[in-house]
Amino acid sequence: MTQPAPTLRDTNLAKLSGQPFDVLVLGGGINGAVAAAALAARGARVALIDRGDFASVTSQQSSNLAWGGIKYLETYEFGLVRKLCRARNELIKAYPSTVQEIRFFTSVARGFRHGRLKLWLGALLYWAIGSFFTRGPRLLSCASIEREEPVVDTRGLAGGFEYSDAYLHDNDARFVWGFIRSALDRGCVAANYVEALGSSRSSSGWTTRARDVTSGRELTIASRLLINACGPYADEVNARDGVSTAHRHVFSKGIHVIVDRVSPHHRVLTFFADDGRLFFVIPMQAKTCIGTTDTRVERPEVTVTPEDRRFVLDNINKRLRLPRPLTEQDIIAERCGVRPLVVSGESTGRGRDWTQLSRKHAIETDTPRGRLTIFGGKLTDCINVGEEICAEVGRLGVRLPYPDRVWYGEPPTAVREEYFHQARLMDLDALTTPRASEKLSTRLWRRYGGEALGLLEAIRRDPRMADVIIETSEYLRCELDEAARREMVVKLDDFLRRRSKIALVVRHEEVLAAAGLREACRILFGAQAEEKLAEYLGEVRGAARPFSAA
Ligand SMILES: Cc1cc2nc3c(=O)[nH]c(=O)nc-3n(C[C@H](O)[C@H](O)[C@H](O)COP(=O)(O)OP(=O)(O)OC[C@H]3O[C@@H](n4cnc5c(N)ncnc54)[C@H](O)[C@@H]3O)c2cc1C
Repeated sequence: MTQPAPTLRDTNLAKLSGQPFDVLVLGGGINGAVAAAALAARGARVALIDRGDFASVTSQQSSNLAWGGIKYLETYEFGLVRKLCRARNELIKAYPSTVQEIRFFTSVARGFRHGRLKLWLGALLYWAIGSFFTRGPRLLSCASIEREEPVVDTRGLAGGFEYSDAYLHDNDARFVWGFIRSALDRGCVAANYVEALGSSRSSSGWTTRARDVTSGRELTIASRLLINACGPYADEVNARDGVSTAHRHVFSKGIHVIVDRVSPHHRVLTFFADDGRLFFVIPMQAKTCIGTTDTRVERPEVTVTPEDRRFVLDNINKRLRLPRPLTEQDIIAERCGVRPLVVSGESTGRGRDWTQLSRKHAIETDTPRGRLTIFGGKLTDCINVGEEICAEVGRLGVRLPYPDRVWYGEPPTAVREEYFHQARLMDLDALTTPRASEKLSTRLWRRYGGEALGLLEAIRRDPRMADVIIETSEYLRCELDEAARREMVVKLDDFLRRRSKIALVVRHEEVLAAAGLREACRILFGAQAEEKLAEYLGEVRGAARPFSAA
Protein backbone atom coordinates (compact mmCIF):
# COMPACT_ATOMS: atom_id res chain seq x y z
CA MET A 1 0.00 0.00 0.00
CA THR A 2 1.37 3.47 -0.86
CA GLN A 3 1.98 5.83 2.03
CA PRO A 4 -0.13 9.03 2.08
CA ALA A 5 1.89 12.06 0.97
CA PRO A 6 3.31 14.01 3.92
CA THR A 7 1.46 17.19 4.80
CA LEU A 8 3.10 20.61 4.83
CA ARG A 9 3.15 20.42 8.61
CA ASP A 10 4.78 16.93 8.63
CA THR A 11 7.53 18.21 6.34
CA ASN A 12 8.10 21.31 8.43
CA LEU A 13 8.19 19.32 11.67
CA ALA A 14 10.99 17.21 10.24
CA LYS A 15 12.86 20.35 9.12
CA LEU A 16 12.58 22.07 12.52
CA SER A 17 15.13 19.87 14.21
CA GLY A 18 17.18 19.16 11.11
CA GLN A 19 18.97 22.50 10.69
CA PRO A 20 20.10 25.54 12.68
CA PHE A 21 18.09 28.73 12.15
CA ASP A 22 19.10 32.37 12.37
CA VAL A 23 15.93 33.08 14.31
CA LEU A 24 13.28 30.99 16.04
CA VAL A 25 9.98 32.80 16.69
CA LEU A 26 7.85 31.47 19.55
CA GLY A 27 4.17 32.27 18.99
CA GLY A 28 2.15 32.67 15.80
CA GLY A 29 -0.24 35.49 16.72
CA ILE A 30 0.02 38.74 14.79
CA ASN A 31 3.35 39.73 16.37
CA GLY A 32 5.07 36.41 15.71
CA ALA A 33 3.56 36.18 12.22
CA VAL A 34 4.80 39.59 11.08
CA ALA A 35 8.21 38.97 12.66
CA ALA A 36 8.54 35.75 10.65
CA ALA A 37 7.14 37.26 7.43
CA ALA A 38 9.45 40.28 7.58
CA LEU A 39 12.59 38.31 8.46
CA ALA A 40 11.93 35.59 5.88
CA ALA A 41 11.38 38.19 3.15
CA ARG A 42 14.62 39.95 4.06
CA GLY A 43 16.50 36.67 3.71
CA ALA A 44 16.93 35.28 7.25
CA ARG A 45 16.59 31.56 7.99
CA VAL A 46 13.51 31.62 10.18
CA ALA A 47 11.42 29.08 12.06
CA LEU A 48 8.15 29.70 13.89
CA ILE A 49 6.19 27.47 16.25
CA ASP A 50 2.88 27.96 18.03
CA ARG A 51 1.56 25.63 20.70
CA GLY A 52 -1.96 25.91 19.32
CA ASP A 53 -3.19 26.97 15.92
CA PHE A 54 -1.81 30.20 14.48
CA ALA A 55 -3.77 33.18 15.86
CA SER A 56 -5.73 30.95 18.22
CA VAL A 57 -5.26 33.15 21.29
CA THR A 58 -5.54 36.97 21.38
CA SER A 59 -5.28 37.52 17.63
CA GLN A 60 -8.63 35.84 16.95
CA GLN A 61 -10.51 37.87 19.57
CA SER A 62 -10.02 41.50 18.48
CA SER A 63 -12.61 44.00 17.28
CA ASN A 64 -11.21 43.53 13.74
CA LEU A 65 -10.41 47.22 13.50
CA ALA A 66 -7.31 48.87 12.10
CA TRP A 67 -7.64 52.15 13.88
CA GLY A 68 -5.53 55.13 14.72
CA GLY A 69 -6.58 55.18 18.37
CA ILE A 70 -8.92 58.18 18.43
CA LYS A 71 -9.59 57.54 22.13
CA TYR A 72 -5.94 58.18 23.04
CA LEU A 73 -6.50 61.85 22.16
CA GLU A 74 -8.30 62.09 25.48
CA THR A 75 -5.03 61.22 27.27
CA TYR A 76 -3.05 63.55 24.97
CA GLU A 77 -1.00 60.65 23.53
CA PHE A 78 -0.55 62.46 20.22
CA GLY A 79 2.65 60.56 19.36
CA LEU A 80 0.88 57.22 19.73
CA VAL A 81 -2.12 58.41 17.69
CA ARG A 82 0.17 59.69 14.93
CA LYS A 83 2.01 56.37 14.84
CA LEU A 84 -1.18 54.30 14.81
CA CYS A 85 -2.81 56.52 12.15
CA ARG A 86 0.23 56.10 9.92
CA ALA A 87 0.16 52.34 10.54
CA ARG A 88 -3.56 52.25 9.68
CA ASN A 89 -3.00 54.30 6.49
CA GLU A 90 -0.19 52.00 5.42
CA LEU A 91 -2.40 48.95 5.95
CA ILE A 92 -5.24 50.49 3.92
CA LYS A 93 -2.79 51.23 1.08
CA ALA A 94 -1.08 47.85 1.22
CA TYR A 95 -4.24 45.72 1.60
CA PRO A 96 -6.97 47.53 -0.35
CA SER A 97 -9.24 44.49 -0.48
CA THR A 98 -8.72 43.43 3.15
CA VAL A 99 -8.22 46.54 5.29
CA GLN A 100 -10.88 49.01 4.26
CA GLU A 101 -11.94 52.43 5.37
CA ILE A 102 -15.27 52.43 7.16
CA ARG A 103 -17.35 55.22 8.74
CA PHE A 104 -17.85 55.35 12.50
CA PHE A 105 -21.30 56.79 13.14
CA THR A 106 -21.01 58.04 16.70
CA SER A 107 -23.86 59.04 19.03
CA VAL A 108 -23.27 61.32 22.00
CA ALA A 109 -25.65 61.37 24.97
CA ARG A 110 -26.72 64.63 26.60
CA GLY A 111 -24.60 65.27 29.69
CA PHE A 112 -21.69 63.11 28.43
CA ARG A 113 -18.28 64.14 29.81
CA HIS A 114 -17.49 65.92 26.50
CA GLY A 115 -19.93 67.89 24.38
CA ARG A 116 -20.54 66.80 20.80
CA LEU A 117 -18.88 69.92 19.35
CA LYS A 118 -15.74 69.24 21.35
CA LEU A 119 -15.79 65.60 20.22
CA TRP A 120 -16.28 66.68 16.63
CA LEU A 121 -13.27 69.02 16.94
CA GLY A 122 -11.35 66.04 18.34
CA ALA A 123 -12.41 64.05 15.26
CA LEU A 124 -11.13 66.87 13.03
CA LEU A 125 -7.81 66.79 14.88
CA TYR A 126 -7.73 63.00 14.49
CA TRP A 127 -8.31 63.39 10.76
CA ALA A 128 -5.47 65.91 10.54
CA ILE A 129 -3.11 63.72 12.60
CA GLY A 130 -3.97 60.94 10.15
CA SER A 131 -2.75 63.20 7.27
CA PHE A 132 -6.32 63.66 5.93
CA PHE A 133 -5.91 60.18 4.46
CA THR A 134 -9.54 59.16 4.99
CA ARG A 135 -12.83 60.96 4.34
CA GLY A 136 -13.34 63.92 6.66
CA PRO A 137 -15.50 63.92 9.81
CA ARG A 138 -19.08 65.15 9.83
CA LEU A 139 -21.19 66.65 12.59
CA LEU A 140 -24.55 64.90 13.09
CA SER A 141 -27.74 66.38 14.44
CA CYS A 142 -30.36 64.15 16.05
CA ALA A 143 -32.51 64.63 12.94
CA SER A 144 -29.75 63.38 10.65
CA ILE A 145 -29.08 60.40 12.93
CA GLU A 146 -32.78 59.51 12.77
CA ARG A 147 -32.83 59.89 9.00
CA GLU A 148 -29.62 57.99 8.26
CA GLU A 149 -29.66 55.32 11.00
CA PRO A 150 -33.24 54.90 12.21
CA VAL A 151 -32.11 51.98 14.38
CA VAL A 152 -30.32 54.40 16.73
CA ASP A 153 -32.51 55.56 19.59
CA THR A 154 -32.10 59.34 19.64
CA ARG A 155 -33.93 59.89 22.93
CA GLY A 156 -31.45 61.50 25.32
CA LEU A 157 -28.92 62.19 22.56
CA ALA A 158 -27.20 65.54 22.02
CA GLY A 159 -26.41 64.49 18.43
CA GLY A 160 -23.24 62.93 17.14
CA PHE A 161 -20.44 62.92 14.64
CA GLU A 162 -19.04 60.62 11.98
CA TYR A 163 -15.40 59.90 11.23
CA SER A 164 -13.37 57.24 9.43
CA ASP A 165 -11.10 54.42 10.50
CA ALA A 166 -10.63 50.97 8.97
CA TYR A 167 -11.71 47.40 9.55
CA LEU A 168 -10.52 43.95 8.54
CA HIS A 169 -12.97 42.65 5.96
CA ASP A 170 -12.30 38.95 6.55
CA ASN A 171 -11.22 38.81 10.17
CA ASP A 172 -8.15 39.05 12.36
CA ALA A 173 -7.17 35.37 12.33
CA ARG A 174 -7.30 35.19 8.54
CA PHE A 175 -5.22 38.37 8.37
CA VAL A 176 -2.59 36.72 10.60
CA TRP A 177 -2.70 33.62 8.45
CA GLY A 178 -1.78 35.78 5.43
CA PHE A 179 1.52 36.69 7.13
CA ILE A 180 2.23 33.06 8.09
CA ARG A 181 1.56 32.01 4.51
CA SER A 182 3.80 34.72 3.13
CA ALA A 183 6.58 33.68 5.57
CA LEU A 184 6.17 30.05 4.39
CA ASP A 185 6.36 31.20 0.76
CA ARG A 186 9.73 32.74 1.56
CA GLY A 187 11.25 29.68 3.18
CA CYS A 188 10.19 30.06 6.81
CA VAL A 189 9.72 26.70 8.53
CA ALA A 190 6.54 27.17 10.53
CA ALA A 191 4.40 24.62 12.35
CA ASN A 192 1.32 24.95 14.52
CA TYR A 193 0.60 22.75 17.55
CA VAL A 194 4.27 22.72 18.56
CA GLU A 195 4.85 23.96 22.09
CA ALA A 196 8.10 25.50 23.30
CA LEU A 197 8.95 23.76 26.60
CA GLY A 198 12.06 25.75 27.46
CA SER A 199 15.07 27.40 25.82
CA SER A 200 18.65 27.47 26.99
CA ARG A 201 21.58 29.48 25.76
CA SER A 202 25.10 28.27 24.95
CA SER A 203 28.00 29.98 23.15
CA SER A 204 26.58 28.89 19.77
CA GLY A 205 23.05 30.18 20.42
CA TRP A 206 19.71 28.91 21.66
CA THR A 207 18.45 25.37 21.98
CA THR A 208 14.69 25.14 22.37
CA ARG A 209 13.06 21.98 23.58
CA ALA A 210 9.64 21.63 21.95
CA ARG A 211 6.79 19.15 21.77
CA ASP A 212 4.54 18.23 18.89
CA VAL A 213 1.23 18.59 20.72
CA THR A 214 -0.57 16.22 18.33
CA SER A 215 1.78 13.26 18.86
CA GLY A 216 3.57 14.10 22.11
CA ARG A 217 6.93 13.69 20.35
CA GLU A 218 9.70 15.98 21.57
CA LEU A 219 12.20 17.77 19.35
CA THR A 220 14.96 20.36 19.73
CA ILE A 221 15.36 23.46 17.60
CA ALA A 222 18.67 25.32 17.31
CA SER A 223 18.73 29.05 16.55
CA ARG A 224 21.14 31.93 16.86
CA LEU A 225 18.45 34.31 18.13
CA LEU A 226 15.14 33.75 19.85
CA ILE A 227 12.03 35.92 19.58
CA ASN A 228 9.42 35.52 22.28
CA ALA A 229 6.11 36.54 20.67
CA CYS A 230 3.89 34.56 23.04
CA GLY A 231 1.52 37.49 23.63
CA PRO A 232 -0.13 37.16 27.06
CA TYR A 233 2.14 34.19 27.82
CA ALA A 234 5.40 36.02 27.03
CA ASP A 235 6.18 36.72 30.71
CA GLU A 236 5.67 33.07 31.67
CA VAL A 237 7.91 31.90 28.84
CA ASN A 238 10.64 34.36 29.90
CA ALA A 239 10.35 33.37 33.55
CA ARG A 240 10.60 29.68 32.70
CA ASP A 241 13.82 30.36 30.77
CA GLY A 242 15.21 32.38 33.70
CA VAL A 243 15.05 35.65 31.75
CA SER A 244 14.03 38.89 33.49
CA THR A 245 12.79 41.92 31.54
CA ALA A 246 12.12 45.59 32.22
CA HIS A 247 8.64 45.30 30.69
CA ARG A 248 5.83 42.96 31.54
CA HIS A 249 2.14 42.48 30.82
CA VAL A 250 -1.08 43.21 32.60
CA PHE A 251 -4.33 41.89 31.14
CA SER A 252 -7.59 43.47 30.09
CA LYS A 253 -10.41 41.14 29.15
CA GLY A 254 -12.70 42.04 26.25
CA ILE A 255 -15.67 40.22 24.78
CA HIS A 256 -17.82 40.54 21.64
CA VAL A 257 -21.10 38.89 20.69
CA ILE A 258 -22.23 38.21 17.13
CA VAL A 259 -25.91 38.54 16.25
CA ASP A 260 -28.01 38.90 13.10
CA ARG A 261 -27.50 42.20 11.30
CA VAL A 262 -28.99 45.11 13.23
CA SER A 263 -28.64 47.73 10.50
CA PRO A 264 -28.59 47.38 6.71
CA HIS A 265 -25.93 50.10 6.38
CA HIS A 266 -22.27 49.34 6.02
CA ARG A 267 -20.82 51.40 8.85
CA VAL A 268 -19.76 50.99 12.46
CA LEU A 269 -22.27 52.35 14.96
CA THR A 270 -20.36 53.84 17.84
CA PHE A 271 -21.59 54.69 21.33
CA PHE A 272 -20.15 55.51 24.68
CA ALA A 273 -21.16 52.61 26.93
CA ASP A 274 -22.28 52.93 30.55
CA ASP A 275 -18.63 52.72 31.66
CA GLY A 276 -17.81 55.69 29.38
CA ARG A 277 -15.80 53.63 26.89
CA LEU A 278 -16.29 53.49 23.14
CA PHE A 279 -18.62 50.64 22.25
CA PHE A 280 -18.99 49.34 18.68
CA VAL A 281 -21.59 47.69 16.48
CA ILE A 282 -19.43 46.36 13.65
CA PRO A 283 -20.54 44.76 10.37
CA MET A 284 -19.33 41.18 10.00
CA GLN A 285 -20.39 39.77 6.64
CA ALA A 286 -24.20 39.45 6.92
CA LYS A 287 -24.00 39.64 10.74
CA THR A 288 -23.14 42.22 13.37
CA CYS A 289 -20.39 42.01 15.96
CA ILE A 290 -20.99 44.00 19.17
CA GLY A 291 -18.49 44.90 21.86
CA THR A 292 -16.36 45.29 23.71
CA THR A 293 -15.69 45.20 27.44
CA ASP A 294 -12.56 46.16 29.35
CA THR A 295 -12.10 44.28 32.62
CA ARG A 296 -8.87 43.87 34.50
CA VAL A 297 -7.99 40.19 34.99
CA GLU A 298 -5.00 38.42 36.48
CA ARG A 299 -4.75 35.48 34.05
CA PRO A 300 -5.02 35.17 30.25
CA GLU A 301 -7.42 32.22 30.33
CA VAL A 302 -10.85 33.83 30.23
CA THR A 303 -14.41 32.94 29.29
CA VAL A 304 -17.54 34.99 28.70
CA THR A 305 -19.48 35.31 31.96
CA PRO A 306 -23.23 35.99 32.28
CA GLU A 307 -22.31 39.52 33.53
CA ASP A 308 -20.25 40.17 30.37
CA ARG A 309 -23.18 39.16 28.18
CA ARG A 310 -25.57 41.29 30.20
CA PHE A 311 -23.28 44.30 29.94
CA VAL A 312 -23.10 44.04 26.15
CA LEU A 313 -26.78 43.27 25.62
CA ASP A 314 -28.00 45.93 28.07
CA ASN A 315 -25.79 48.58 26.54
CA ILE A 316 -26.91 47.84 23.04
CA ASN A 317 -30.60 47.46 23.89
CA LYS A 318 -30.50 50.86 25.59
CA ARG A 319 -29.06 52.56 22.53
CA LEU A 320 -30.83 50.90 19.62
CA ARG A 321 -34.48 50.93 18.63
CA LEU A 322 -34.86 47.26 17.71
CA PRO A 323 -38.16 45.47 16.96
CA ARG A 324 -37.48 43.59 20.23
CA PRO A 325 -34.52 43.70 22.62
CA LEU A 326 -31.62 41.36 21.90
CA THR A 327 -31.37 38.42 24.28
CA GLU A 328 -28.88 35.62 24.80
CA GLN A 329 -30.88 33.50 22.36
CA ASP A 330 -29.91 35.93 19.60
CA ILE A 331 -26.19 35.32 20.08
CA ILE A 332 -24.73 33.34 17.19
CA ALA A 333 -21.16 33.25 18.47
CA GLU A 334 -18.97 34.93 21.05
CA ARG A 335 -15.39 36.15 21.13
CA CYS A 336 -13.38 36.60 24.30
CA GLY A 337 -9.72 37.36 25.00
CA VAL A 338 -7.28 39.48 26.95
CA ARG A 339 -5.38 42.46 25.67
CA PRO A 340 -1.77 42.02 26.73
CA LEU A 341 -0.95 45.57 27.88
CA VAL A 342 2.65 46.52 28.44
CA VAL A 343 3.84 48.16 31.65
CA SER A 344 7.43 48.82 32.62
CA GLY A 345 9.45 48.46 35.80
CA GLU A 346 7.55 47.74 38.96
CA SER A 347 4.38 49.34 37.60
CA THR A 348 1.28 47.19 37.85
CA GLY A 349 -0.89 49.56 35.89
CA ARG A 350 -2.85 50.20 39.08
CA GLY A 351 -3.37 53.74 40.24
CA ARG A 352 -3.93 54.88 36.66
CA ASP A 353 -7.40 54.83 35.22
CA TRP A 354 -7.45 51.25 33.99
CA THR A 355 -9.25 51.98 30.74
CA GLN A 356 -6.70 54.71 29.96
CA LEU A 357 -3.72 52.35 29.99
CA SER A 358 -2.47 52.71 26.46
CA ARG A 359 -1.93 50.01 23.90
CA LYS A 360 1.65 50.64 22.80
CA HIS A 361 4.02 47.88 21.94
CA ALA A 362 7.58 47.48 23.19
CA ILE A 363 10.34 45.25 21.85
CA GLU A 364 12.88 44.45 24.52
CA THR A 365 16.24 43.08 23.42
CA ASP A 366 18.69 41.15 25.55
CA THR A 367 21.69 41.89 23.34
CA PRO A 368 24.33 39.66 24.97
CA ARG A 369 22.00 36.64 24.90
CA GLY A 370 20.34 37.33 21.54
CA ARG A 371 16.77 37.26 22.79
CA LEU A 372 13.91 39.59 21.90
CA THR A 373 10.49 39.83 23.53
CA ILE A 374 7.53 41.57 21.90
CA PHE A 375 5.21 43.13 24.48
CA GLY A 376 1.74 44.54 23.93
CA GLY A 377 0.78 46.03 20.60
CA LYS A 378 -2.18 45.96 18.27
CA LEU A 379 -3.00 44.34 14.97
CA THR A 380 -2.97 47.85 13.56
CA ASP A 381 0.68 48.30 14.46
CA CYS A 382 1.87 45.08 12.83
CA ILE A 383 3.94 46.61 10.02
CA ASN A 384 5.92 48.66 12.53
CA VAL A 385 6.55 45.54 14.62
CA GLY A 386 7.87 43.66 11.56
CA GLU A 387 10.18 46.53 10.61
CA GLU A 388 11.47 47.02 14.16
CA ILE A 389 12.16 43.30 14.51
CA CYS A 390 14.22 43.34 11.28
CA ALA A 391 16.22 46.32 12.55
CA GLU A 392 16.93 44.63 15.88
CA VAL A 393 17.82 41.27 14.34
CA GLY A 394 20.20 43.03 11.91
CA ARG A 395 21.75 44.92 14.81
CA LEU A 396 22.33 41.62 16.60
CA GLY A 397 24.48 40.48 13.69
CA VAL A 398 22.17 38.35 11.52
CA ARG A 399 22.82 39.22 7.87
CA LEU A 400 19.64 40.20 6.05
CA PRO A 401 20.63 40.00 2.37
CA TYR A 402 17.52 41.83 1.10
CA PRO A 403 17.20 44.71 3.59
CA ASP A 404 14.91 46.81 1.40
CA ARG A 405 12.49 44.12 0.27
CA VAL A 406 8.85 45.00 0.95
CA TRP A 407 7.47 42.08 2.95
CA TYR A 408 3.79 42.95 3.19
CA GLY A 409 0.90 43.94 0.92
CA GLU A 410 -1.29 42.45 -1.80
CA PRO A 411 0.20 41.18 -5.07
CA PRO A 412 1.11 43.77 -7.73
CA THR A 413 -1.57 45.38 -9.92
CA ALA A 414 -0.58 43.30 -12.96
CA VAL A 415 -1.39 40.05 -11.09
CA ARG A 416 -4.66 41.53 -9.86
CA GLU A 417 -5.67 42.60 -13.37
CA GLU A 418 -4.81 39.21 -14.80
CA TYR A 419 -6.87 37.49 -12.09
CA PHE A 420 -9.98 39.63 -12.64
CA HIS A 421 -9.58 39.31 -16.42
CA GLN A 422 -9.55 35.51 -16.17
CA ALA A 423 -12.45 35.56 -13.70
CA ARG A 424 -14.49 37.62 -16.19
CA LEU A 425 -13.62 35.33 -19.11
CA MET A 426 -14.96 32.30 -17.26
CA ASP A 427 -17.93 34.23 -15.84
CA LEU A 428 -16.89 33.28 -12.32
CA ASP A 429 -19.36 35.62 -10.63
CA ALA A 430 -22.26 33.66 -12.10
CA LEU A 431 -21.25 30.99 -9.55
CA THR A 432 -21.75 33.35 -6.60
CA THR A 433 -24.14 31.61 -4.20
CA PRO A 434 -27.40 33.32 -3.17
CA ARG A 435 -26.22 33.42 0.48
CA ALA A 436 -22.97 35.14 -0.46
CA SER A 437 -22.38 38.66 0.81
CA GLU A 438 -20.21 39.68 -2.15
CA LYS A 439 -19.12 38.59 -5.62
CA LEU A 440 -17.17 35.36 -5.75
CA SER A 441 -14.27 36.91 -7.70
CA THR A 442 -13.83 39.61 -5.05
CA ARG A 443 -13.90 37.15 -2.19
CA LEU A 444 -11.40 34.72 -3.75
CA TRP A 445 -8.96 37.53 -4.54
CA ARG A 446 -9.13 38.92 -1.03
CA ARG A 447 -8.66 35.56 0.66
CA TYR A 448 -6.04 34.02 -1.61
CA GLY A 449 -4.30 36.86 -3.47
CA GLY A 450 -2.11 35.48 -6.27
CA GLU A 451 -3.09 31.91 -5.34
CA ALA A 452 -6.62 32.71 -6.52
CA LEU A 453 -5.33 32.19 -10.08
CA GLY A 454 -4.70 28.56 -9.13
CA LEU A 455 -8.29 28.27 -7.89
CA LEU A 456 -9.59 29.56 -11.24
CA GLU A 457 -7.48 26.94 -12.97
CA ALA A 458 -8.90 24.24 -10.66
CA ILE A 459 -12.48 25.30 -11.48
CA ARG A 460 -11.75 25.35 -15.21
CA ARG A 461 -10.29 21.86 -14.98
CA ASP A 462 -13.17 20.48 -12.92
CA PRO A 463 -16.33 22.58 -12.52
CA ARG A 464 -17.22 20.56 -9.38
CA MET A 465 -14.45 22.52 -7.69
CA ALA A 466 -16.95 25.39 -7.51
CA ASP A 467 -19.48 23.35 -5.50
CA VAL A 468 -20.41 24.77 -2.11
CA ILE A 469 -19.64 21.96 0.33
CA ILE A 470 -21.03 23.16 3.67
CA GLU A 471 -24.50 24.37 2.64
CA THR A 472 -24.74 27.03 5.32
CA SER A 473 -21.52 28.72 4.22
CA GLU A 474 -20.19 30.07 0.94
CA TYR A 475 -16.90 28.13 0.79
CA LEU A 476 -16.17 26.09 -2.32
CA ARG A 477 -14.62 22.68 -2.82
CA CYS A 478 -11.48 24.25 -4.29
CA GLU A 479 -11.08 26.41 -1.17
CA LEU A 480 -11.23 23.37 1.09
CA ASP A 481 -8.72 21.71 -1.21
CA GLU A 482 -6.47 24.75 -0.92
CA ALA A 483 -6.87 24.73 2.88
CA ALA A 484 -5.92 21.03 3.02
CA ARG A 485 -2.80 21.51 0.90
CA ARG A 486 -1.50 24.92 1.89
CA GLU A 487 -3.16 26.18 5.06
CA MET A 488 -1.92 23.73 7.70
CA VAL A 489 -5.35 22.82 9.04
CA VAL A 490 -4.82 20.34 11.87
CA LYS A 491 -8.23 20.50 13.54
CA LEU A 492 -11.64 21.19 12.06
CA ASP A 493 -11.88 24.28 14.27
CA ASP A 494 -8.74 25.70 12.56
CA PHE A 495 -10.72 25.84 9.34
CA LEU A 496 -14.16 26.79 10.70
CA ARG A 497 -12.96 29.51 13.08
CA ARG A 498 -9.65 30.86 11.71
CA ARG A 499 -8.98 30.05 8.02
CA SER A 500 -12.65 30.79 7.38
CA LYS A 501 -15.12 32.57 9.65
CA ILE A 502 -17.92 30.03 9.35
CA ALA A 503 -17.97 29.41 13.11
CA LEU A 504 -18.50 33.12 13.73
CA VAL A 505 -21.40 33.74 11.39
CA VAL A 506 -23.25 30.41 11.36
CA ARG A 507 -24.70 28.92 14.54
CA HIS A 508 -22.79 25.80 15.42
CA GLU A 509 -26.02 23.73 15.48
CA GLU A 510 -26.43 24.66 11.82
CA VAL A 511 -22.81 23.85 10.99
CA LEU A 512 -23.14 20.47 12.66
CA ALA A 513 -26.41 19.72 10.86
CA ALA A 514 -24.98 20.61 7.43
CA ALA A 515 -24.95 17.52 5.23
CA GLY A 516 -21.67 18.65 3.65
CA LEU A 517 -19.68 18.75 6.90
CA ARG A 518 -18.47 15.13 6.51
CA GLU A 519 -17.44 15.80 2.92
CA ALA A 520 -15.54 18.90 4.08
CA CYS A 521 -13.71 16.75 6.64
CA ARG A 522 -12.84 14.20 3.96
CA ILE A 523 -11.29 16.93 1.82
CA LEU A 524 -9.43 18.47 4.74
CA PHE A 525 -8.26 15.33 6.52
CA GLY A 526 -8.58 12.35 4.15
CA ALA A 527 -8.47 9.06 6.08
CA GLN A 528 -8.60 10.92 9.42
CA ALA A 529 -11.92 12.64 8.60
CA GLU A 530 -14.11 10.76 11.10
CA GLU A 531 -11.57 11.11 13.90
CA LYS A 532 -11.26 14.88 13.31
CA LEU A 533 -15.00 15.34 13.20
CA ALA A 534 -15.39 13.43 16.48
CA GLU A 535 -12.64 15.56 18.04
CA TYR A 536 -14.47 18.74 16.95
CA LEU A 537 -17.82 17.49 18.26
CA GLY A 538 -16.18 16.78 21.61
CA GLU A 539 -14.66 20.26 21.75
CA VAL A 540 -17.91 21.96 20.76
CA ARG A 541 -19.87 20.04 23.40
CA GLY A 542 -17.26 20.90 26.01
CA ALA A 543 -17.55 24.59 25.18
CA ALA A 544 -21.35 24.69 24.70
CA ARG A 545 -22.90 27.90 25.98
CA PRO A 546 -25.58 27.53 28.65
CA PHE A 547 -28.27 29.03 26.41
CA SER A 548 -27.20 27.11 23.30
CA ALA A 549 -29.85 25.09 21.51
CA ALA A 550 -27.39 22.17 21.09
C1 LIG B 1 -11.17 42.31 22.99
C2 LIG B 1 -9.99 42.77 22.18
C3 LIG B 1 -10.18 43.69 21.15
C4 LIG B 1 -9.10 44.13 20.40
N1 LIG B 1 -9.33 44.93 19.32
C5 LIG B 1 -8.32 45.31 18.55
C6 LIG B 1 -8.58 46.04 17.36
O1 LIG B 1 -9.73 46.28 17.00
N2 LIG B 1 -7.52 46.45 16.61
C7 LIG B 1 -6.24 46.14 16.97
O2 LIG B 1 -5.34 46.56 16.26
N3 LIG B 1 -5.96 45.39 18.06
C8 LIG B 1 -6.96 44.96 18.85
N4 LIG B 1 -6.72 44.18 19.94
C9 LIG B 1 -5.33 43.88 20.30
C10 LIG B 1 -4.75 42.73 19.50
O3 LIG B 1 -5.71 41.73 19.28
C11 LIG B 1 -3.56 42.14 20.25
O4 LIG B 1 -2.67 43.15 20.62
C12 LIG B 1 -2.79 41.15 19.40
O5 LIG B 1 -3.65 40.18 18.85
C13 LIG B 1 -1.72 40.45 20.24
O6 LIG B 1 -1.03 39.57 19.38
P1 LIG B 1 0.18 38.70 19.90
O7 LIG B 1 0.80 38.06 18.71
O8 LIG B 1 1.06 39.50 20.77
O9 LIG B 1 -0.48 37.62 20.87
P2 LIG B 1 -1.35 36.31 20.57
O10 LIG B 1 -2.25 36.50 19.43
O11 LIG B 1 -1.95 35.90 21.85
O12 LIG B 1 -0.27 35.25 20.12
C14 LIG B 1 0.60 34.61 21.03
C15 LIG B 1 0.78 33.17 20.57
O13 LIG B 1 1.79 32.55 21.35
C16 LIG B 1 1.48 31.19 21.46
N5 LIG B 1 2.21 30.61 22.59
C17 LIG B 1 2.06 30.87 23.91
N6 LIG B 1 2.91 30.11 24.62
C18 LIG B 1 3.61 29.36 23.74
C19 LIG B 1 4.63 28.38 23.86
N7 LIG B 1 5.10 27.98 25.04
N8 LIG B 1 5.12 27.79 22.73
C20 LIG B 1 4.65 28.16 21.51
N9 LIG B 1 3.67 29.09 21.34
C21 LIG B 1 3.17 29.67 22.44
C22 LIG B 1 -0.04 31.19 21.66
O14 LIG B 1 -0.60 29.93 21.32
C23 LIG B 1 -0.48 32.33 20.75
O15 LIG B 1 -0.96 31.87 19.49
C24 LIG B 1 -7.78 43.67 20.70
C25 LIG B 1 -7.60 42.74 21.71
C26 LIG B 1 -8.69 42.27 22.43
C27 LIG B 1 -8.48 41.21 23.48
